[in-house]
Order: sequence, then structure tokens, then C-alpha cells
Amino acid sequence: MRSVERTVFKTIKRERLFTPDDRIMIALSGGKDSVVLAHVLSKIEKRYGAKLFAVTIDEGVRGYREEGIRIAKDVTNKLELEHFIFTFKEAYGYSLEEIYGMARSKGIPLLGCSFCGILRRRLLNDLALKLGATKVATGHNLDDEAQTFLINVFRGDIERIGRAGARPLVVRDGFIPRVKPLRYIPEKEIAVYVYAKGYNLYQNECPYVRASLRDEIRDLLNRLDADHPGTKHSIVNVSDALSKFLEEKIVASKMESCTLCGSPSSRKICRTCEVFSLLGIRKTSV
Ligand code: SF4
Repeated sequence: MRSVERTVFKTIKRERLFTPDDRIMIALSGGKDSVVLAHVLSKIEKRYGAKLFAVTIDEGVRGYREEGIRIAKDVTNKLELEHFIFTFKEAYGYSLEEIYGMARSKGIPLLGCSFCGILRRRLLNDLALKLGATKVATGHNLDDEAQTFLINVFRGDIERIGRAGARPLVVRDGFIPRVKPLRYIPEKEIAVYVYAKGYNLYQNECPYVRASLRDEIRDLLNRLDADHPGTKHSIVNVSDALSKFLEEKIVASKMESCTLCGSPSSRKICRTCEVFSLLGIRKTSV
């Protein structure tokens, strides 16, 4: 337990993730990573003086999300954290199930996770702005980060490789910086921590999960790390080193405004508007 906490606190200090006047929004899905994140960060209110609250997004997946919301409520009650729950339906007018159904009826070949990821990222940023957060903390762990690095390598996405890291290299107007205090903690240690602290573990699997490149990379990395311990750490260390080399390029890259909604975006039309144009629906806002 102490090793996990020490690594998180070291990351916070070394990467300068927080300042005492930060108002930190924890993205709390109810999964094990976000539960450990909330538990460990709840100690920093005393240590660093930063203020915390949690937000849970209900995408609208029946039979799956309810359990996460229940766990998130338990955790925030136990830790005495302010907690907000927002739904896709409130923000966008449609649940993920409805959006996925519309996409299928129009023959749009995107996976449920693609819609979910794009819309959740946007909603988290909109909520952070609305609720006055100065940082958004997410529960990405070492395994997630090593997988993401390899995905970016396989896709040849240099810019995303440069943007990886426990905190963003550049803070852009309209974006609340997202920080990852668990970036150096292996998934297995997180599972042990959450179990030892007596929290419930999420049992259900989202029905939209499909075999993806990430799954293949996850299996590959688990095999490699079992045969060659330290592989995942080495990959994340390489990712950190490359980000530093690419810093100039990232800092110099331009951010524009989406021509449809005006939100900051590296593209002419942001991913959220792109998705809604495909579906023919008009985005609402929180
Ligand atoms: S598995 Fe995919 S669709 Fe389900 S909650 Fe996660 S990102 Fe969303």
C-alpha cells in the first residue's frame, strides 16, 4: 500500500501535477483505477491543500453503468468527496445506446467505444470548465500508458507520442489540463490496492467491448512483461524520454477553433462535431 502511495506522491511532486490552489476534478467511473485514484488523492487535500471533487459520467449503457455509479457513490461517501453525476442524455440529448443504434441504422461503422471515448472526453472538459476545475485527474495506469504508446507507434502518430506524459506539455485555452497520477503504477498493483482497501470491484463487462488493437497489445505486453519483467516500465520510460525530444514540436503546434462549435481543436471540425454531423444530430451542451 505504501509503495503505491509513495509512487503517486513522487509523481505528483516530480511532474508538478498540482499546486495548493488547484481545484481537482477526479474522473470517477467506479472502475478500480479511478477508485484508487480517489482514495490516494483524498490524502493530498491535507498534504498539499488542493481541493477535490469527483465526476461520474453515465453514458447510458443499461446493465453495466449502474454498478459503477453505485461504487462511485460508495467511494465518495466514504471519502467525503463532493460528487456529481452527469449523463450523455443530459449533455447531448441521447444515451450511448441511442447513439450507437442511430449509427448502426445509418451504416456508420464506428465501434461503441469510439463514440463513447470521443463524447466522454469532451464532456469531461466541458464539465471541468463549468464546475471551475483547474485540473482533471484520470486513473490511467502503467499498463494503459504502455499500450497507448505502442498504439501510437503502430499508427505512426508522432504528435500523440509527444503529448503523452503524466501532465500536458502545453496548456491551451479552453482545455483544462488532464493529469495522470497513476501513470507509473502497474494495473496488478492497483487491483491489489483496491482489494486490500476493501472496495468493491466492478464485475460487469460493458456490452460494447469488442476485440481491438488495444486488446491485442495488452495480451502481448502481459506476455512480454511476464517473460521479461520491467518491459512495461521501460516502454513508459521511453515514452517520457521521447516526449521531451518532441516538446518543441508540440509547443509550436497550433490549436484552432472548431468551425462548428468554437471549441479548441487541432482540426477544423472537432471530433465531437464530426460524430454528430455523421449522425445528423445537433449537439447540446452542459
Ligand atoms: S467499454 Fe467502450 S463503450 Fe463501454 S464504457 Fe468503456 S469506452 Fe465506453
